[in-house]
Amino acid sequence: MMIVTRFAPSPTGYLHVGGLRTALYSYLYARKNKGKFLLRIEDTDLKRNSKEATIAIKEAFKWCGLEHDGEVTYQSERFDIYKQYIKKLLDEGKAYKCYMSKDELDALRAKQEARKERPKYDNRYRNFTGTPPSGIEPVIRIKAPESGEIVIHDGIKGEVKFQVNDILDDFIIARSDGTPTYNFVVVIDDALMGVTHVIRGDDHLSNTPKQIVLYEALGFKMPEFFHVAMINGEDGSKLSKRHGATDVMEYKQMGYLPEALLNFLIRLGWSHGDDEIFSMDDMLKYFDPYAINKSASTYNKSKLEWLNAHYIKTMPFERLAKEMLYFGVDFKAHKKGELLLDILRERSKTLVELKDSANAILNRPTQYEQKAVDKFITPTSLDILENFAKILTLDLDAKAYEVLTNEFLNKNNLKLKDLAQTLRISLVGSSVSPSIFEVLEVLGSNEIKTRIANALNVLKV
Ligand code: GLU
Repeated sequence: MMIVTRFAPSPTGYLHVGGLRTALYSYLYARKNKGKFLLRIEDTDLKRNSKEATIAIKEAFKWCGLEHDGEVTYQSERFDIYKQYIKKLLDEGKAYKCYMSKDELDALRAKQEARKERPKYDNRYRNFTGTPPSGIEPVIRIKAPESGEIVIHDGIKGEVKFQVNDILDDFIIARSDGTPTYNFVVVIDDALMGVTHVIRGDDHLSNTPKQIVLYEALGFKMPEFFHVAMINGEDGSKLSKRHGATDVMEYKQMGYLPEALLNFLIRLGWSHGDDEIFSMDDMLKYFDPYAINKSASTYNKSKLEWLNAHYIKTMPFERLAKEMLYFGVDFKAHKKGELLLDILRERSKTLVELKDSANAILNRPTQYEQKAVDKFITPTSLDILENFAKILTLDLDAKAYEVLTNEFLNKNNLKLKDLAQTLRISLVGSSVSPSIFEVLEVLGSNEIKTRIANALNVLKV
C-alpha cells in the first residue's frame, strides 16, 4: 500500500511552528516510505486569503526543505464534489433534511440546559415523511448512531473510546445555504485524495468520531489517525506568541537555521534513545509516527539555541556563507572570510549574532565605546599604539602577528596588557573581540594601520 499523508492548514497567512511540526511528521512518514505528501488548503471560510496563505506556506516549506507532491488542493474549489456526496447520502437515506427553525432549536436547547442535559439535536426530522414547513431552507443532517461507542484506533494514543450518548447527535453536514460543514469536507477530501495516514494535532481528536461516522456512511476506507499532543510554553499553557515566535519565517529573521528548527521540532514530541542531533537523513531513517509521545511537550528556547549553535558550528563554509548573504554579510567577498567565519561561528547562537560580530570587525569603527576608552586609553597607551603601527608592513597570519607583537613588546619592555585593549578599541571600537591576533590577520596590515590612525586622530588630545 502506498503511504499518503497530507498537511491541511487553514489559510491564516503564515505557517505556525506547531503546524510545521505535524507537517514534518507527515512529510517524513511519506518520504521514508516512498509515498506521497499532499498539501490541502482548508479555505471554505477564508477563501479570500487562500492564495496568499498558500504562498506563505510554500515559502516556509521551501526554507525548511520540505516539498509537497502534486497540485495544492483548495477546498473552496471543490463545492461541486461536496454537493454530489451530500446528494448521494440523501438518496441513500443516510442523511436527511431538517426543517427546524432557529427558534425551535433555541427552545430545545433552553429546555435541555434547564434539565442540565447536554444540548443535542432531538432527531425530530430523522424519519420525517410529512409535508415540510414552508419558508424554511433545510439543513442536511447525517443519521448518526444513536447509541453504543465509537473507537478510534489511534497510532499514538492507542484505543480512544467515545460514548455516542456523550458526544454525538445527527450533526449538520450542509447548512441551509447548501455549504458543507468542516468535518464533512475533511472526510471527502482525505478519502478522495487517498490519504492513508492522518497526522494532526490532538485538538482535532474530538472531531474524529464525527469523521468516523461519515467514513462509514460514505463507505470510504478509513485512514489511520495519529493525534499529536500539543506544544506548551514553559509555563504549561498552550504555545503562543508570549512564549516565542509562532510564525516559522520569524525564525529565519531571528537567525535560526532550518536544520535547527526541524531538529528542534522533531524532538518536541518524538525521541530516539537519547539522541538530540538529527540531520534530515537521520530523521528519515529513524522517525516513526507510532513512537510519537503521548503527552504534551514543552517549548524550550535554550534547546533551540543550543541546536542552532551546533548547526552554525558544523555547517560547511559555503553553505553558511550563503545563509549569511540574507543578513547582508558577504564572507566570500572578503579574502579572510573563511577565517573570520570560523572565529565567529564558535561563539554565535544565531545568524543575527554572527552578523553583528562580523560587522563589528568588518566595518571600521565610527565611534569608540566610552566605557572602554575611559578604562584603557591613556596618553601612554596611545603612544605605544602609534609605535606599534610603525612596524606593520606585511600581511601576516595570526601566529606571525603574535610573534611580531611579542618582539615589539620585548624590545620596549612592555607587556601584552599595555597594548592589547588599546589596539582592540582602535580596531573594533570596543574592548571585546575574538583573539586580537586573529583579528589582525583578518584585517591585514593596511587596514590595521588605517584604523589605528583614525583612532589616534579621534582619541589623542
Ligand atoms: N485545518 C485544520 C487545522 O488547520 C487541520 C485539519 C486536519 O488536519 O484534519 O488545524
